[in-house]
Amino acid sequence: MAHSTATLRLAVGDLRIVHPVTVPSGPVEAADIVPALQGLVNAVVAAAEAGRTVSCRKGCGACCRQLVPVSPSEGERLLCVVAALPRERREALQARFAAAETAIEGAGLDQRQGRSDRDLSVAYFALRLPCPFLEDESCSIHQERPLICREYLVSSPPQLCAGPTQEGVTPLPVPKVSLAARGLQDEADDWFPLALLMAWRRTRPRRTTRRTGPEWMQRFLRQLGRK
Ligand code: SF4
Repeated sequence: MAHSTATLRLAVGDLRIVHPVTVPSGPVEAADIVPALQGLVNAVVAAAEAGRTVSCRKGCGACCRQLVPVSPSEGERLLCVVAALPRERREALQARFAAAETAIEGAGLDQRQGRSDRDLSVAYFALRLPCPFLEDESCSIHQERPLICREYLVSSPPQLCAGPTQEGVTPLPVPKVSLAARGLQDEADDWFPLALLMAWRRTRPRRTTRRTGPEWMQRFLRQLGRK
């Protein structure tokens, strides 16, 4: 399929970003433009990081026990990533997802039950549940990790990230471009916890809307403008 490239000039928070994006020219599903969004978020994070000291290192997966909200478009992309893994790795991953699902349901955290985002996040972190994609305290899908994982970097000492209350943890002020991906397929705020990816797959409405890559990108930028 042919591709179209455009140079985006964006003001995101205090940052000025000039970034070329390439998307399929023809009709595709929203998940197909996720790689372009990954590139854009990488550019925003790089600009936010410039001149700052980041404590995050490979092999420190303390933050990978937090609730990771992902959009349906990213969910579809991640399901393709999982489907492309060799069978042994896929089965091991499926087992970790099943264990996470049992723990989350057991704690009653698969439903909001009137909790605020903050309360839900605190209760989730208290479970100390490793992300199913975490292997040897490193992300096994680093190139494909969700947008919000890319945006989370800290400048405080790494040991604070494992503390029960996260007290003293200082995240870098990275604009949350990932939020705009949540409204890509419709205008509602739409997300689910990454650890429930397989549960979401069983129940999700299969969206088959196809738009051209530039049309999806325009929708994303409109959402970004509203955040
Ligand atoms: S996807 Fe990767 S970076 Fe994100 S929480 Fe899971 S292991 Fe960590």
